Order: sequence, then structure tokens, then C-alpha cells
Amino acid sequence: MTATTTTQTGSPAGTTERRQRVFSGIQPSGNFHLGNYLGAIRNWANQQYQYESIFCIVDLHALSLDITRESMMQNITSVANTVLAAGVDPEHCIFFVQSDVHEHAELCWILQSVTRFGELRRMTQFKDKSGGEEEGVSAALFTYPVLQAADIVLYDTHLVPVGADQRQHIELTRDIAYRFNQRFGQTFVLPQADIKEHGARIMSLDDASKKMSKSSSNAGSYIAMLDAPDVIRKKISRAVTDSGREVKFDPQNKPEVSNLISIYAECSDKTIAEIEAQYEGQGYGPFKKDLAEAVVATLEPIQIRYHEIRQSGELYEVLKQGKERAAVQADAMLKQVKEKMGFIVL
Ligand code: ATP
Ligand code: MG
Repeated sequence: MTATTTTQTGSPAGTTERRQRVFSGIQPSGNFHLGNYLGAIRNWANQQYQYESIFCIVDLHALSLDITRESMMQNITSVANTVLAAGVDPEHCIFFVQSDVHEHAELCWILQSVTRFGELRRMTQFKDKSGGEEEGVSAALFTYPVLQAADIVLYDTHLVPVGADQRQHIELTRDIAYRFNQRFGQTFVLPQADIKEHGARIMSLDDASKKMSKSSSNAGSYIAMLDAPDVIRKKISRAVTDSGREVKFDPQNKPEVSNLISIYAECSDKTIAEIEAQYEGQGYGPFKKDLAEAVVATLEPIQIRYHEIRQSGELYEVLKQGKERAAVQADAMLKQVKEKMGFIVL
């Protein structure tokens, strides 16, 4: 890492020798799906050897939607096991659960003091998830991006590998961190979103104007990482297309088919052009059939590994160790923040 990069990202003095730091999270808000994998978690696994990586099950974020005790417990365990099955290796990163490190919630409160109401109101995720019913949604849904900012800046994060839907939240994080630094002195690194060119925005199978989402009430709209092969085949055969029959990548005019082509390209070693050429003049049937097999082949090894990890029962020990390692860093940062703001830190 060069000194110039350090200055550009706003790294505090004394960290120039360190590898760049990566932080990212996934909510235990439902079924971990193919979009989460292609847009984010696959990149966590690929990049953990290159960067100093911290990955988190952001359970406090899941409180922004309605939860039950049972769904929370089940989702934390299954999402965490799936992250490990997808290749995230605790030997090469810190992997923990957000609520186990109380500094996230505390820093969120502090950062709310440098976040503007109007900024949060402009967040498109809030508009999408509140569905125009702002009066009835929880305040946690509104302040969610501040907690996300706290998650990120708590660890001197340079890069945040996420799907395209998170770009606006990372920009807000930079604004909040910059404003804090201006007011109280250089404290936080200004992070950058790391959004890949491919796979960063996988759309729903039932509506290509919406991204594939864990919290969707229609299980047919997403491919869950743990869906059985026959369920995957059925979901893909039922995926909405259009009244044409041309397998052509044209997101403007053929958003549904283009989304399926993207998924196919990401789950195989074929390029978009090769896929278009292969199915020319054949209609959607053979294309969808082969696409389903490509998805099954991508998910099968992850599913096998998932069941091995579950049986091993190693998850809680992994998360406990991750919590201890994350807490050391979070504690140091929060103390620094409080000192800068004039709190008495004993
Ligand atoms: P929810 O609907 O509860 O918000 P989600 O599917 O959006 O769930 P998150 O836990 O919010 O999942 O996001 C985890 C990561 O997956 C983030 O980096 C996010 O950008 C990425 N991601 C989410 N949906 C997609 C998608 N459809 N395509 C690509 N990446 C995605
Ligand atoms: Mg989301």
C-alpha cells in the first residue's frame, strides 16, 4: 500500500505499513440467496488472502424488519454456516456476529449525532423497504445506514465488498466519517465500496425490476443457497421471461432474459456472447434447462460443505474466537472516538 493511497482513503497516521482492511456484513434476515453469493460473499472468500478481512453476521440490522426469536436464531446459524461453506475461512479473516461486539451499537448512537435526517430520508433502500408506508415502519429501518457506517468505520476499513444496492450506503458512510473527522479531528478511514462489474445486481426471478432479496415474501423470487436441485430447476423453469424467444443480452428491452444470462455467465465459464451464440434460434427452453444445471453445479459443493460444517458443530467456537478478535479492535476505536469527543474514558 502506498502513502498516496493512505492519504486518499484518509487512513490515520501509523497504519501505512498495514495491508488494506476489508469489512463487510450479511443480515440474518432470511434465506441466503444466489445474489448474496455472486454479488458479495464470493468476493469475500476470494479476497480474504489479499486483504486483512473482517466479516460479520449483522444481526442488529435484521431488527429493522419484523423478526421472531425463532427466525432470528435459525437465520443466524444458517447464514453463518453458509458463509463458511461458501469459502470464508476464519484462519484468514475475522468472522463474528455483530451483536456480540457492543461497540457497533454504541458507535451507531454517536454517529447519529453527525448524520442528518435529510440524508437518511434520501436513502433508496429506506424508500423501497418502507414501500411508501413510512408512518408504520420501525425507526430502526430509518437509522439502519448509520449502524452500517458504524460497522465499517469501527475497523479502519478501506474497502467494503458489497452488491450494487449498497453503493449509496457506503457513500453516506464516507460523508458521516468525513464530517466526524472535520469536527473532532482525524479519526476514521474513509471507506470505498468494492462493487464488481459482474454479479453485483442479480434481479428477482419474478420481477426483473427488483433485486433478488432475502426478505422477499415470495420464495420463487430467489434461489436460496440451500435449495435442493429440483427446487432450483423448478424455480428457473418458472422464472419470468418475455413473449419473445431470443436469448439476447439487452437489459433495457429484455431485463428478465438478461438477468438469467448474467446468472448463467456467473455460474459457468461461458461469456455472455458465447451463451447468446449457443442458444441462437432455440427459444428459452434449452437455455433455462442448462442454466438450471449450471446453478445446481455451482451450489452443490457449497451445500455439501454446509452440511459438513453443521455436523461438525464448529460454528459457535469460530464465532466466539471471531468476537474476541473483533472486540479488541472495536474497543480501541471506540475509546479513541470518545476521547476525541471529550468523554471521560477511564
Ligand atoms: P434483505 O432483503 O433482508 O435486505 P438482502 O438479500 O438484500 O437481504 P443483505 O444481507 O442486505 O441481503 O446483503 C448482503 C450482501 O449481499 C450485500 O453486500 C448486498 O449488497 C448483497 N446483495 C444483496 N442482494 C443482492 C443481489 N440481488 N445481487 C447482488 N448482490 C446482492
Ligand atoms: Mg439488503
